[in-house]
Amino acid sequence: MTQAATYLDHNASAPLLPEAKAAMLAAFELTGNPSSVHRHGRLLRNAVDTARRQVARLAGAEHDQVVFTGSATEAITQAIVGGADALRIDGIVISAGEHVAALKAAELTGLPVTRVDLDGDGRIRVDQLAAAIGSADMVGLRLLVCVHLVNNETGVVQPVEDIERLVGPSPHYLFVDAVQGFGKLDLAFAARAPDMMALSAHKIGGPAGVGALLLKGHADQVRLIPGGGQEQGRRGGTEPAALIAGFGAAADSFPGRFEKAGAAALIERAEAGMRAVAPDLVVFGAAARRVGSVSNFAVPGLKNSVAMMGLDLLGLSVSAGSACSSGKVGPSHVLAAMGVAPELGECALRLSLGWSSTADDVAAFLSGFGEVVGRHRSRHGRAA
Ligand code: PLP
Repeated sequence: MTQAATYLDHNASAPLLPEAKAAMLAAFELTGNPSSVHRHGRLLRNAVDTARRQVARLAGAEHDQVVFTGSATEAITQAIVGGADALRIDGIVISAGEHVAALKAAELTGLPVTRVDLDGDGRIRVDQLAAAIGSADMVGLRLLVCVHLVNNETGVVQPVEDIERLVGPSPHYLFVDAVQGFGKLDLAFAARAPDMMALSAHKIGGPAGVGALLLKGHADQVRLIPGGGQEQGRRGGTEPAALIAGFGAAADSFPGRFEKAGAAALIERAEAGMRAVAPDLVVFGAAARRVGSVSNFAVPGLKNSVAMMGLDLLGLSVSAGSACSSGKVGPSHVLAAMGVAPELGECALRLSLGWSSTADDVAAFLSGFGEVVGRHRSRHGRAA
């Protein structure tokens, strides 16, 4: 028997937008290499350049500030590892709530790394960041400050404008992982202080396997893969024109579709419905500004591994924080950085909605949630 499954895990990867699929199918019909000067090559170059303009428009960037990469993970690694070298960085300051791609890249530089905590609501501690910058200034060290715009696990919008005010007028550099804010918040890359930003196609309904690094000013020299000099020497490797075309089409159509789906109202409905079933529900980051399409919550005592399995059997795909490649449910470093007790962190689940989400999805989720919580309570001798 097949059961209709409900996808509630957009932060892991959003469903492919029909516009992105159509653009990819059209580009897959083309033959050749975008770097070739003949007619075949020019058609592919055209597809890549169109997508570059589409991604730039949504990011508020100049088209020549967009460098296509193989993923946001690669873009992040280029910004941090390549940036440490090209920008003659002396130390990294990074928030403890970054995606593992950034935390690992920072370690890889071999430079001193200062980790800045999150507060209890999941916001980066700007006071700690200011202190780290102050200490570096006293001894004339140049820092690369690495933060994210929206947390992938909690949906918390980070105080990036405050961080820009600290880093903007200084000799330090600012890298922002904007993956989970792209298409939802105004990035205005060209007009704002960040020197580098990372983006990912598959979080906005484009294909997995393509991302972008936005570079400006001195950061335009930041490299990781020299290769054959593609992307104006900023990222070697033949551009996957079809994937890039899908990314561009997604950048064009995602914002309108996301807004139309009304994910924020759906999340509010989901949280209210969960509270009606489980009044002891804890929503992480609830007091902070959140992007609206995400809820990271826990029912104390109900382990996420158990709840996720129960929901999965009912055809409901949610996640326990960030999807890790092993497929295992591990402790969340983000919740730990917020000071969440490990036994509560083990109960955390993430619901993330997006462009294809509907009220029916939330109704299906709430019905499944009620069933799983009810089963847990009856097993543990408590009233639902
Ligand atoms: N940064 C954030 C905040 C993310 O949520 C993700 C994906 O989960 C990434 C980076 C990595 O993106 P990609 O899958 O394109 O490497």
